[in-house]
Amino acid sequence: MPKPFKGISIPASKKTIIKRRYSVTQDVVSFRRCGLQYAAFNVHKYAPAQQTQTYFGTVIHQVLDRCHAHFHGIVEPSTKGSIPDNGLILKEEEIHNYFYEVQEAQKDKKTVPLPPSEIIKYFLQVENGLNSKGILAIRSNTRVQAVKILQYFNALEGAVLYPRVRDTEHRLQADQIGHILHGVVDLLVDSIDENVDPANCEMWDYKGSSRVGLNPKDLETYEFQMRVYAYLYQRKYGVLPKKAVLYFLNELDGDTCPSQRPVNALIEVSIEPDEIEVAINEFTKTVNQIEESRCTNEWQAAAPGNISEQDCKSCDLRWHCKTPNGGKGVKPIYP
Ligand code: SF4
Repeated sequence: MPKPFKGISIPASKKTIIKRRYSVTQDVVSFRRCGLQYAAFNVHKYAPAQQTQTYFGTVIHQVLDRCHAHFHGIVEPSTKGSIPDNGLILKEEEIHNYFYEVQEAQKDKKTVPLPPSEIIKYFLQVENGLNSKGILAIRSNTRVQAVKILQYFNALEGAVLYPRVRDTEHRLQADQIGHILHGVVDLLVDSIDENVDPANCEMWDYKGSSRVGLNPKDLETYEFQMRVYAYLYQRKYGVLPKKAVLYFLNELDGDTCPSQRPVNALIEVSIEPDEIEVAINEFTKTVNQIEESRCTNEWQAAAPGNISEQDCKSCDLRWHCKTPNGGKGVKPIYP
């Protein structure tokens, strides 16, 4: 019998190392907030029953993104140089009435009335996209509150901030040997010079929450997040940004638009090289913990006091978790 494969030697295949990509917010910040919640929704990919937190933050971010695009004439060149609605503000009652009219028209299968403002037009475009992914506002007041805050921000900050915006949703990433770390900075803000100098740019990150009442651990994580962005920025441009800024949009909430920026709305995060190093080490430690938990499939819920009651209130896992309610767990509704 002939031996057709005689003399053929096949080398053993080389082991390919696939590096996992870790997002600064979706992975590292989420895991640091609560490992158990991160495992359920980010690792095992269960769909949350309520997405109120996702809804509010995403709506705010995406509408503001459209406001920046409006000012820079990216979608419609005729809007270049103008602020949506020229900074005008609709009353809360007018927003409510419009949403009610839309609801009634949809119920009766009639033509939906046109949005009364550009901010509401952008809001509805974004909301339709989110609704199609099952991300909904649970209460109608949440929608009105989001529009109110967006209007206030647009009126208060638009004229000065929009001309300075150099880029939105700015992507940064770095190969960290064992993994790839990536993040998206909401805004790169420059002086109004034509020549963009990376050393002169500020990084801004919007938070759809209030600064007052923020859990200290969350604030620490947000500061770490900005320092990691500063590190990724330096890897990309060779220089650190001029500033790292957190903007807490819910600080603008109220019956009327604030005439000046509330003191708690903006925090400048210090980005000294030694602080950046601590943040990077801390984030690498967190990535290692995630890898370890992935191997053992053991995930820890946040300790009581390390997470806000509000976060636990909207978590689907709260019924069998001991952390909410100061460590006493949630009282069952039914006996
Ligand atoms: S209830 Fe709170 S601590 Fe428990 S899993 Fe949910 S977010 Fe984490």
